[in-house]
Amino acid sequence: MKYDIFRLHNPERIVIDLKNAQMKAKLGQLALPDPVLQALRYGKRKKNVIRMVLDVKKGVTPRSFLLKKTKENPSRLVVDLIPQASEKTKKIQPINNTMQRDIIIAVDAGHGGEDPGAIGKNKLQEKKVTLRIAKELAKLINAKKGMKAVLIRKGDYFVSLKKRVQKVREVGADMMISIHADALRVRSVKGASVYTLSESGATPDRVAAALAAKENAADLVGGVMPVQQVDEPFVRGILGDMAKRDGLDSSEMFANTVLEEFAKSFPIKYNKPKHARFAVLTTLEIPCVLVEVDYISNPKRERLLKSSKHQKKLARAMYVASVDFFTRMGRLKTSVAERHTVHRGDTLWGIAKQYGVSVSSIVRLNGLNKKSDLKVGQRLRMPQS
Ligand SMILES: [Zn+2]
Repeated sequence: MKYDIFRLHNPERIVIDLKNAQMKAKLGQLALPDPVLQALRYGKRKKNVIRMVLDVKKGVTPRSFLLKKTKENPSRLVVDLIPQASEKTKKIQPINNTMQRDIIIAVDAGHGGEDPGAIGKNKLQEKKVTLRIAKELAKLINAKKGMKAVLIRKGDYFVSLKKRVQKVREVGADMMISIHADALRVRSVKGASVYTLSESGATPDRVAAALAAKENAADLVGGVMPVQQVDEPFVRGILGDMAKRDGLDSSEMFANTVLEEFAKSFPIKYNKPKHARFAVLTTLEIPCVLVEVDYISNPKRERLLKSSKHQKKLARAMYVASVDFFTRMGRLKTSVAERHTVHRGDTLWGIAKQYGVSVSSIVRLNGLNKKSDLKVGQRLRMPQS
């Protein structure tokens, strides 16, 4: 059996990713409250990977090992949760507790000021489009209970990549969405793509690397040195590798959610998230994605990108993806998710569990019967608990 286990803080939790696994157990039968365990939840991270999250009441160190199959028992993964002895670790944890406060999303409009970004055939500038979409996205987020948007750039001025990253940190953002519109010499190319930061050692991606070079060059335009390495003593010392890894994993998860949402209404250039070393995505410890909403170099798409109706649609897709993501992460109250889109492998039972509602209430609300098959892509109304 292959698995990953790691610890995350604020709130304290242990995450276990089980590879090639399917959920057959009924987690609801767990005896709670437990002295250590607060709750147990799970979700599908990607195909054949089950992510289990153990919400714990206090800092624990997980110790895990595999037991071989015996006559009496199947193969087992045993996880010991050892309470942390030292109080020291507690004291140096980040001050802002993410448990109760609003989820903060940093919305980064690409380029600005003397850096126009890409320019369309009819002279539409990327910096203008990205700002308008960013403002629409922020508006939607701010209207949502439990969520707050921070615009990294509010007007047409230059912000260095380093400043952008700093601001994301300063506001204690839980996620960053950087908005761009790409350009290519071939004018017929269209569609969205979503980028995440590459893990070192990941397969180099020529297209992604070229784009990263282009976007990173923004700082040269503004006369500032490109960000080589953002100082991260805070992250290095406290959150460590585990948080970084979760940041990347959740970026990937979120990137996929954005792509799924975009695919419903817009053309997609690459249907998988791409990876590159974007300076603006170096905020490792939170999910960060860079969305190239379309190609401004394609005159037809340029015309669309200019329309406020289309800008709103693009913003809405990113908004829906964020709500979906934070709901799945257990950070947004389930009652705020009004709809659930059926994914491959979803069961009524699983969905009910995910939203903390009963199967019968979903059945009732959607006029289903308990045996009915769910269709991938079907939108289910969710009871408001
Ligand atoms: Zn750009």
